[in-house]
Amino acid sequence: MDKQPKPAKPKEKLTLSWRIWLPHWETDEAFCRLLGLVREQRSIVDEVALFDTITHHLYIPLDEYARRMELAARRMDAFRKAGIPSAGINVLCTIGHINEAWSYMPRLPFQAMVGHNGDVSTGCACPNTPEMREYIRAKYELVAKAHPDFIWVDDDIRMTNHGIAWGCFCPTCLGIFARKAGQKYSREKLVKLFDDSAGGRVRQLWVEQNNETIESLLAHIAVAIRKINPEIRTGLMTGMHNTYSGMAFERWVTALGATKARPGCGFYSDATPIEMYRKAIDCGWQRASLPPAATDRQYELENFPYQRLKKSATAVVNECTLALAYGLNGIAFNMLGLATADEDSLPLLEGIPPVRPLWEKWVAHTAGLSTTGLWPAWSRQLMAKRSVRQGENWLGWPSQYDINLPKTLGEIGLPIATDAPGCGIVLCGRIAEAFSDRELKNMFAGGVLMDSTALEVLTERRLNHLTGVRLARRLDNGLMERFTDDELNGRAAGQLRDARIEFWGNAKGLGDVLEPATAGVRILTTMEDYFYRVQGPSMTAFENSLGGRVVVMGYAPWIFLHSVAKRRQLQNVADWISRGTMPVRIDQTVPLVSVVRMSANRHHGGVVLLNAGMDEIREATVHVRSAARRARLLTIGQRDRVLKIQPEKSGGCITLRNIPPWSLQLILLGKQSRRN
Ligand SMILES: [Zn+2]
Repeated sequence: MDKQPKPAKPKEKLTLSWRIWLPHWETDEAFCRLLGLVREQRSIVDEVALFDTITHHLYIPLDEYARRMELAARRMDAFRKAGIPSAGINVLCTIGHINEAWSYMPRLPFQAMVGHNGDVSTGCACPNTPEMREYIRAKYELVAKAHPDFIWVDDDIRMTNHGIAWGCFCPTCLGIFARKAGQKYSREKLVKLFDDSAGGRVRQLWVEQNNETIESLLAHIAVAIRKINPEIRTGLMTGMHNTYSGMAFERWVTALGATKARPGCGFYSDATPIEMYRKAIDCGWQRASLPPAATDRQYELENFPYQRLKKSATAVVNECTLALAYGLNGIAFNMLGLATADEDSLPLLEGIPPVRPLWEKWVAHTAGLSTTGLWPAWSRQLMAKRSVRQGENWLGWPSQYDINLPKTLGEIGLPIATDAPGCGIVLCGRIAEAFSDRELKNMFAGGVLMDSTALEVLTERRLNHLTGVRLARRLDNGLMERFTDDELNGRAAGQLRDARIEFWGNAKGLGDVLEPATAGVRILTTMEDYFYRVQGPSMTAFENSLGGRVVVMGYAPWIFLHSVAKRRQLQNVADWISRGTMPVRIDQTVPLVSVVRMSANRHHGGVVLLNAGMDEIREATVHVRSAARRARLLTIGQRDRVLKIQPEKSGGCITLRNIPPWSLQLILLGKQSRRN
């Protein structure tokens, strides 16, 4: 094959986009006010996206929709005249989001989505009938005729949570499945097979049908838009829902011919502020699944349903920054609510102009760099490939398949990567079921931090020799763990950790006794009852025949890791399994959450640190495993500062002081705008 010259990578540019609800542009009066606001806030508006409707109900008669799109065309022209370089339409409903306003919205004139239990949606359609596809073609053609610069497809593109839990089991979809499976199934028969341990093929085919349904729907939309105007850019909004819909973001974005993507998934209130970090990881996972064509990657900042006291301006700035840290390069602000309630949203805008220059520098400096740290393993094939054992419910989704558990490691300051394989892999619950033996062996040739439920799966697959241990006994009450004098425990030798495992629901898997199966297994903790009687090893470290370093945790692996001793042990463990390549390590036990991006040679990178606590952090000693000898510190409202890097064996050490609660520090490593 001829070698093609590599196209020059476009320079990464920050895009701040506003999503505007219909009541803001429907009447001349409201629009006039909106235009005034946009002019006033011009420094933080690069793009506007007009929502095409106010309800999450799919069906709007086309004659009414055509009139609305004519109005939208005039509104977008007005924005362009006001100097906004990019104006487009956000099509809120393609399938429909949920059942909303159904008692007075027009009934769907085509097949509604049917749930696995026979429930029928009132607001969302089956995406597979020719009648629905015809409506969608006509709808998107009308949108394209309004001359938008771009069209967003919203995140109702999924097969779950449409007023029915799991879809779609209508006659059309069952017909498609019969052709795929080579056999007819009734809805009842199919659902029964989903819970059958021998139903693996049916489950996989069904998830793939969901995947293809979405892929073909998006391809259909792309054709409709391109026929009117091939220049219109398209974008897909996604969420980290579950893998029932297949989550093949790369295929979906490609089918839509999209250059825009908007990863998201709900952080509507800062009552539990650390959730913003958990959402940022979700967005990082989604971003890592996008094809390279998706160059405009906007974070979903969403304050739905827009009530002032549900979220602070500080939270807005922090969550957006964490998302940019995870590799997005824009923000889609969905924070203007009703046109009559500006006082609910305007105060939140004030925090953005001062942070914009930091965001721009961050995005330009870290363009193309991967996240690094521990990679929590997950797969879009998880639901398709998981096993279903006697008495289990496939659609019930037990916690052993929760991919979010390892996020706790981030709360104690271990950087979480969303680009595989990071510098160490975290394997929790039964997620290993989604991977082939070959993939698992590859993982175990490197560093792995895993729990004892994952060990169970490895044992079923006859791969547990790679861990050095076997599961000896499962206990579920009255247990603590004690740190041994292994050097990975440092000063914590002899200390106890108590997670009170019965208090948090089913404690199965929180008190597993491990047993070395070979020589060379190091015992890091042993389990004891409340009378200090030893039950056996509960955490082990082992270097296997593939050269991989594996640590297994049998005691409360994902809860209450926040003690001084446990945090330090896990820092040592992460350094050990990754052979010293964890990109950041902070000495003090402070709630500094870190997100790290780094070039392969580690000359160039960026670190975002968030004080996720209510106390000021007086001092933080940050060891950065980077070859960079220059660092700049960006903080909101202050001039950029050159940071002193104290060289050390593993890289360099930076000391930060006086970090206020819930505030950010952005560190740019290496020369400015150097790429690699
Ligand atoms: Zn259907």
